Amino acid sequence: MSMRELVILGTASQAPTRQRNHNGYVLRWDDEVILFDPGEGSQRQMLHTTVTATDLTRICVTHFHGDHCLGLPGTIQRLSLDRVPHPVAVHFPAGGAEYFARLRHATSFYETAELHVEPIEADGQRIALRCGTLEARRLRHPIETYGYRLVEPDGHRMLPEKLAAYGIAGPAVGELNRVGHLDRDGRRVTRDEVSVPRPGQRFAFVMDTGLCDAVYALAEHADLLVVESTFLDAEAALAAEVGHLTAAQAARVAAESGVRRLVLTHFSQRYADPRRFLDEARKHFDGDLVVAEDLTTVQVPPRRVASTG
Ligand SMILES: [Zn+2]
Repeated sequence: MSMRELVILGTASQAPTRQRNHNGYVLRWDDEVILFDPGEGSQRQMLHTTVTATDLTRICVTHFHGDHCLGLPGTIQRLSLDRVPHPVAVHFPAGGAEYFARLRHATSFYETAELHVEPIEADGQRIALRCGTLEARRLRHPIETYGYRLVEPDGHRMLPEKLAAYGIAGPAVGELNRVGHLDRDGRRVTRDEVSVPRPGQRFAFVMDTGLCDAVYALAEHADLLVVESTFLDAEAALAAEVGHLTAAQAARVAAESGVRRLVLTHFSQRYADPRRFLDEARKHFDGDLVVAEDLTTVQVPPRRVASTG
């Protein structure tokens, strides 16, 4: 069973606090280890987790406000220091390319790591990964900002006992899965006869934004949704004005979008007690609910079970 989990490096918006580092999140998803929005201090936060720079395969930045990218210089230099042998892909809003160039070469260092820089040029841009599709959607924030989601296609899970009953083994299993049928002793065996549907999993990452259609599009049927809830509903007017969400809004999006596990994060330093986010969100969302804490890990929920027909 491959590993799918979120390692939380930091949870503070704007400015770190004594309890919360600037933002930073690592998604382990099969052969991808994606660092999202490394805020200041992300390199050191990683040392307190099981994630190393060498693990990283990809970096996704939603926008170029400091709490989402000031960790890039340290992280990128660390890739070279550790002589990471594989290329690391980097995605960010194309309009912020100048910021990225500065952060990438913020100081002098001996560059050995290979970065594959692929900026997000447009709403809806898709990047094909081995494990699925990474999609970027334009969010509502004062500067160009994209949220991301990772969508694994639906598949099939082969049933060994049914395969055995038809005498199908070895490479024929792969062929049957690929083609959809196989001719056996003058009879056609279809994939549906020997498998059950395997619903694909989805991860969504929604950072700084006012409520907009893209938030719903990203959240749709997410198994794990990480979403900013900078404010509580008492500050809803302020949140809308500055392009942020409240815990209640985030929870309602999750409820309406069929989200299974909701992770609230990116908290304003004005709130000392994280239970207030939990209490507010709970009124609107009855699924799994996590108020993110630094240096914790949240599992992607087990795959939805398809009917065995
Ligand atoms: Zn922010």
